[in-house]
Amino acid sequence: MIKIGGLHKFSLIDFPSRISAVIFVQGCNLRCPYCHNRHLVLPEYFGYTIGVEEIFNFLESRKKMIEGVVISGGEPTIFEGLVDFIKRIKDLGYLVKLDTNGTNPELLKRLINEKLVDYIAMDIKASAGKYEYIAGSSVNMDKIRKSIEILLQSDIEYEFRTTLIKDLLTYNDIIKIGQMIKGAKRYALQNFVPSENLINKEIKSKTGFPQDERERLKKRLKNYVKEIILR
Ligand code: SF4
Repeated sequence: MIKIGGLHKFSLIDFPSRISAVIFVQGCNLRCPYCHNRHLVLPEYFGYTIGVEEIFNFLESRKKMIEGVVISGGEPTIFEGLVDFIKRIKDLGYLVKLDTNGTNPELLKRLINEKLVDYIAMDIKASAGKYEYIAGSSVNMDKIRKSIEILLQSDIEYEFRTTLIKDLLTYNDIIKIGQMIKGAKRYALQNFVPSENLINKEIKSKTGFPQDERERLKKRLKNYVKEIILR
């Protein structure tokens, strides 16, 4: 059963070119220190959950106002019930975007094959050698590479994205990620912004990458990826 820990009823920024609602699942298999959603990741911070029928009553009532539903988290692909949940959303006529950390390539493939997702945003946490350090837990890199491959070979809309955090990641790490996703359509570099809800409070004093470094990365990464977005 999928556990839902939050709902944003209206967003203009979470689903490219679409008005959307965002559903946040509760639970994640990683522990990225810079994550802002500790209430969706760390069980000791979990709050209330929203019932599935409440979500569908809401979606039913907004069909004329919202085009897409973003499923974010937390990590949606840890829930076996995700497929049936998305099927119900698709039955209402919505486009679906999935935000994922890419640790479940089998499920990604199934969702794509069954045409249940219209857009996937996959986080690439770090260069391969630093992955577990940045993800804060053990990670099977074969699965991450498999998910990358699935997206590269799919015909759906997708983006890869990385949070730029100074001291933890370097310019060269990001270039290595560019090489890992070579041939991708889109790669978004999101600058870290500190907040009160970080998983690791010690990260609060860190910063994102300076603008000139981001611009240099953008130029360099054009060797590997068609479109680079700075966020
Ligand atoms: S940023 Fe990391 S810890 Fe937070 S939800 Fe995403 S994968 Fe999980």
